[in-house]
Amino acid sequence: MCALTAGQRGKRVLVVEHANRVGKKILMSGGGRCNFTNLGAAPANYLSANPHFCKSALARYTPRDFIELVERHGIAYHEKEPGQLFCDVSSKLIVKMLLDECATAGVRIETSCSIERVGHGDAGFHLRTARGTYSAPALVVACGGLSIPSMGASGFGYALAQQFGHAVLPTRAGLVPLTLTGKHQERLADLSGVAFPVTARCNGAQFSNFMLLTHRGVSGPAILQVSSYWQPGDDLRLDLLPGQDALASLQRLRAARPAAELRTVLGELLPRRFAQRLCEAWLHALHPARPMRQFNDPQLREVAALLGDWPLVASGTEGYRTAEVTLGGVDTDGLSSSTMQSRHIPGLYFIGEVVDVTGWLGGYNFQWAWASGHAAGMAL
Ligand SMILES: Cc1cc2nc3c(=O)[nH]c(=O)nc-3n(C[C@H](O)[C@H](O)[C@H](O)COP(=O)(O)OP(=O)(O)OC[C@H]3O[C@@H](n4cnc5c(N)ncnc54)[C@H](O)[C@@H]3O)c2cc1C
Repeated sequence: MCALTAGQRGKRVLVVEHANRVGKKILMSGGGRCNFTNLGAAPANYLSANPHFCKSALARYTPRDFIELVERHGIAYHEKEPGQLFCDVSSKLIVKMLLDECATAGVRIETSCSIERVGHGDAGFHLRTARGTYSAPALVVACGGLSIPSMGASGFGYALAQQFGHAVLPTRAGLVPLTLTGKHQERLADLSGVAFPVTARCNGAQFSNFMLLTHRGVSGPAILQVSSYWQPGDDLRLDLLPGQDALASLQRLRAARPAAELRTVLGELLPRRFAQRLCEAWLHALHPARPMRQFNDPQLREVAALLGDWPLVASGTEGYRTAEVTLGGVDTDGLSSSTMQSRHIPGLYFIGEVVDVTGWLGGYNFQWAWASGHAAGMAL
């Protein structure tokens, strides 16, 4: 996006890519259909030490701008969950669109080209690469984060930032499944594959969507979203009956099925196997198995309280191997929010995921990549 924007403005642009092709993450994104933007993308959907930093770029290149580009290239798309736009056919079309725009703008792209050294002097930046040395008055670092090393991710962008005196905020995996250990894992491991809607809450953030139990822990969109707000030791709570009045549901079931056991009636509100496990492992000590008619209102209130605020004790995350994004990164304090240019090295820019701006799940991260790339491309 940055290269094509600068190219369209008449700049001579070279993209140096160490992988054998560009846009690998676009290709694998959205299950191969690239969730390329989110209609509701707004600063509140991003995590950053400075929540104001992303505002300018997002306002100047909006989801509408990217949709206009997608439509101009005749790429069919649809809205999956509210606001989330996906290609109908393949994410390959997004990469082709960007490459076509680059070609029209005269952008040169070198793939399988590793960078050995970056120097900086009066004449600008000097890149020593496997294909020779290149010099330019400006250098845009768009190396992405650490997620999915097998797709070309490297810590190179952070190393460059540090080389040029920029602070890099601690990085960690985001939008990532959480792992459980010990009794927490043992209690749920054999339910791998069970999924149901929850509201996941952590550190003031909350997300309502599906949770998926895995044999190592928990995943699914609600968990991926909340994982970006969670760190080991943090309190993580799940409402297992989102949007429902749990007490009213239990009272209704007590009236309808007085002879049934709690775990049987809970099986009507939750996946049956999970309901059973919940009763055995979490509720049994408090309320040994007995018919519903033997539960009084205060006891049902206790059960409802657990259903609405179930503590999930995660031990860690699946890490960069499966994370969709990297939290943290190049400190925005050292960058101009309108151009992405370094505040102390003229001509040096950082865009996309390498910067300490991380979006929610749902097309927000690409929108940041497009918007920050566009901001730099307009300033070069
Ligand atoms: C599985 C998966 C699915 C995703 N799905 C979505 C989605 O549907 N919607 C969404 O909004 N976001 C999604 N994301 C997140 C999104 O892909 C990233 O946030 C986005 O690609 C970041 O763009 P970027 O240009 O900053 O970095 P990247 O897309 O990571 O690009 C960085 C490029 O720099 C290259 N590079 C790295 N190191 C070097 C080096 N030393 N020398 C030369 N080149 C180098 C890499 O090979 C890569 O091509 C997904 C991520 C993953 C992992």
